Amino acid sequence: MHIMACLKPVPEPDTVKVDPETHTLKRESAKLILNPADRFALEAAVRLKENTRGKVTAVMMGPPNAAPLLKEAFACGADEVFLLSDRAFAGADTLATSYVLAKAAERLGPFDLIVCGKVSLDGETAQVGPELAAWLSWPSVIWVKEITYKDGQLVLTRLTDEGEEVVSLTLPGVITIEPESNEPRPPSLKRLLSLAEKEVPTLTAEDLAAEPERLGLSGSPTRVLDVFTPTYEGKKEYLSGPPEEVVEQLVKILKERGLI
Ligand SMILES: Cc1cc2nc3c(=O)[nH]c(=O)nc-3n(C[C@H](O)[C@H](O)[C@H](O)COP(=O)(O)OP(=O)(O)OC[C@H]3O[C@@H](n4cnc5c(N)ncnc54)[C@H](O)[C@@H]3O)c2cc1C
Repeated sequence: MHIMACLKPVPEPDTVKVDPETHTLKRESAKLILNPADRFALEAAVRLKENTRGKVTAVMMGPPNAAPLLKEAFACGADEVFLLSDRAFAGADTLATSYVLAKAAERLGPFDLIVCGKVSLDGETAQVGPELAAWLSWPSVIWVKEITYKDGQLVLTRLTDEGEEVVSLTLPGVITIEPESNEPRPPSLKRLLSLAEKEVPTLTAEDLAAEPERLGLSGSPTRVLDVFTPTYEGKKEYLSGPPEEVVEQLVKILKERGLI
């Protein structure tokens, strides 16, 4: 089984600052780490390849300084790693990000399965996995905690809001992995050292034969208009009078404030 593992570089929370003018994260000054949820996705992919004598290709869309994180992914069991990096990718929202990952799947595949983390630490939309499936017209299953491979199909136990359910997925497909559903292995020092002097292969927009208008800001239908820390102010208002009048006043206030 050939599995693509999608790994996102995220800023280490303590090192990140927001640009007050553009409202975007000042990523250049932040230290990058592997998105914590993606460690579980990578481990799930590596276990599945071990059970099926397959191969894991890890891909990451990110800036050039994210490359060492892919060496870490190699040390944790990925067979091949690729950084998807190009100035044209800057400002990508989830649609443009998932488009680049889909182009990588076409360029580096064929893949039987794509494994994503459940959600990123910084963007936190959980949209990229399902959107990637949509670009490829593949089925997707989210919040997966157990995987069994049987006769060309995956039998998946997934979490739901109510509990758990077992579903089968005909391949090729995309899954997102529930954090804490496995124990990611520590990086192998031997594998890490074997890459010490090597460059991580980088693919650009041109290498992916990506359509320029689908990339970065121009390929992103959403815009960040503002970023702020919400403040909560407690306010009290007392309504007095006979109960019928109080109810009337209350309904009027709630309507005025658009709450009912
Ligand atoms: C208008 C707008 C502008 C933005 N501008 C920028 C910008 O200039 N620079 C910037 O860095 N971000 C920018 N972002 C954030 C960026 O869109 C998201 O970080 C990105 O699309 C992924 O979404 P997410 O973080 O919600 O991932 P989720 O959907 O929460 O991630 C789920 C999983 O998808 C996979 N995944 C997600 N992203 C990647 C990736 N890059 N590579 C590989 N796998 C991945 C991982 O497996 C991850 O666990 C912008 C967002 C918006 C809306």
